[in-house]
Amino acid sequence: MNRNRRSRLRRVLAVTFALHALGAASFVPRRAVAADKAGGGGGDELYADDAARQRAISYNRQREWLTVIGMAWGVVVNLVALTTGLSSWLRRRSDAVAPARLGATIPYALASSLLSSLASLPLAYYSGWTVEQRYGLSNQTRRAWFGEQLKGEGLGLALGLPLIQGVYAVIRRYPRTWWAILSSLTVPFTIILSNLAPILIMPLFNKYEPIRDRALAERIKALAAAQGVTISDVLQMDMSKQTKKANAMFTGIGNTKRIVLADTLLNEFTPEEVEVVLAHELGHQVHHDIWKLIGLGALTTALTAWSVDRLAAPLLERYGRRFGFDQSQGLADVAALPLLSLLLSAISLLLSPVQNAISRNLIERPADQYALDLTRNPDAFVGAMEKLGRLNLADPRPPRLVKWLLYSHPPLQERIAFGRDWREQA
Ligand SMILES: [Zn+2]
Repeated sequence: MNRNRRSRLRRVLAVTFALHALGAASFVPRRAVAADKAGGGGGDELYADDAARQRAISYNRQREWLTVIGMAWGVVVNLVALTTGLSSWLRRRSDAVAPARLGATIPYALASSLLSSLASLPLAYYSGWTVEQRYGLSNQTRRAWFGEQLKGEGLGLALGLPLIQGVYAVIRRYPRTWWAILSSLTVPFTIILSNLAPILIMPLFNKYEPIRDRALAERIKALAAAQGVTISDVLQMDMSKQTKKANAMFTGIGNTKRIVLADTLLNEFTPEEVEVVLAHELGHQVHHDIWKLIGLGALTTALTAWSVDRLAAPLLERYGRRFGFDQSQGLADVAALPLLSLLLSAISLLLSPVQNAISRNLIERPADQYALDLTRNPDAFVGAMEKLGRLNLADPRPPRLVKWLLYSHPPLQERIAFGRDWREQA
């Protein structure tokens, strides 16, 4: 999925810092065929001329710099909240207004979430709307964009506030083992959320319906049946509401398992190319990748929460008084949330190259292999990747560091080369 959708999903799943406090809970497994910020890459032949290629490169560089600026801005906002005493003041005010039985957590999380959303709004607007407009990728009016942000914020609060209340209840009750308890709760939580998201959350932003092209539907069913695979629903969504970019994904668990194709993709791709994209998604289903992702998410959460537990104690000891934390409460003082947020950002930055490498090499590459083996149509595979690259303005040659940090899929150039290798070996 593209970055807008991904960041929105993340918002939806958690209230700013609170979200991070659950790590992998924000991680509803969805796999896109390519095409997110991570989907870049692709040979020089992707673009007809040098100007088009330069345009794609400058688009990607801008987005990458905006990602870096966004991270730096998050650090600044959290540091300001801590060093100015804003965070401890907010906790005292929250204590004063909240019923004693409920405590300061929810009012604090509500206020800090709204404040941090406001603080990041200019940057979100610039990267989410202005840049997309400038490169002719957006199909959204300014008003529609703001409307979606607002909807995402509301949903994030509705889901995130009870969540953070629960997280702090566990931290208070089990000050030593909270990290293990929360990590193990992540698994059922993610399963439930993954099951419900396709029917309760995703339709709030886009319309999903069975694909209209019945001939294509039959083709897809035949493809799956030939493999003895029980195909889940194949739906189309009106992604053109937001963007000109194309995508496909598989999502959901159990009875909500489905493959989703964007209308933007259906409009541009030949039936053979759609088939190969679908075969890739089918590969994820056959390989049980949702469960691998849930496992990976649980591991990541456990590692993250454990690290926070280890690192937070000395930091609280050293800075707790200066930042106005309630020393007797330790980590359970919600005023320390910005500190937790800083720790979580640092840890997830360190873990992201590992997660991305696993995703590229053990999840996405095998799905491409499956798509090629199943369709035996490398030309359609290469054609689909090239189209995806052009539609999404993918970077022909992402710098290695960018690939490590941001690419959950192999760069398109590598995927195209993979398709060509397959053709030569076949
Ligand atoms: Zn995939």
